[in-house]
Amino acid sequence: MMISKEFSELTSALDAFVKENFDEDYSVELGSDFFVDLDTDIIRYAVICPEADEKSFCADFINRFPACADISPLMLSLMHEVGHLEEEWQMEDDAKERELCTKAEDYYKLFNERIATDYAGEWLTKHHDFAKECDKKFIAIYEKILDNLLD
Ligand SMILES: [Zn+2]
Repeated sequence: MMISKEFSELTSALDAFVKENFDEDYSVELGSDFFVDLDTDIIRYAVICPEADEKSFCADFINRFPACADISPLMLSLMHEVGHLEEEWQMEDDAKERELCTKAEDYYKLFNERIATDYAGEWLTKHHDFAKECDKKFIAIYEKILDNLLD
């Protein structure tokens, strides 16, 4: 099993991507779900996500930004977290509304979620070919990880 080598390869590739294209202070680490810590600027990514969550997240994203239909769930999710960091300045305190969210559709309508996806979708649409190229590299490593996990 060569999983750890490929995990660190993927983490380094994602980390370099956010540093080079967004902010030197951003970093990416492997986690158990997609998450961003706004205090430390650390984005965590996951390789295996709950399928239903991933599907509805991507469906909402692509519905609003059709040009992103050929971008992987990994890249869409990563860019959504970058969106939270880039739009932090205009975030609202939505703790109460967040608590009341029971359905995925409601969650995506939260103002802070919407502005993060808007940022991600606009960036990916504007830089589509470049993003697609980076995405291909990420996915090549990602597939090696999946192959090893399934062995
Ligand atoms: Zn979010």
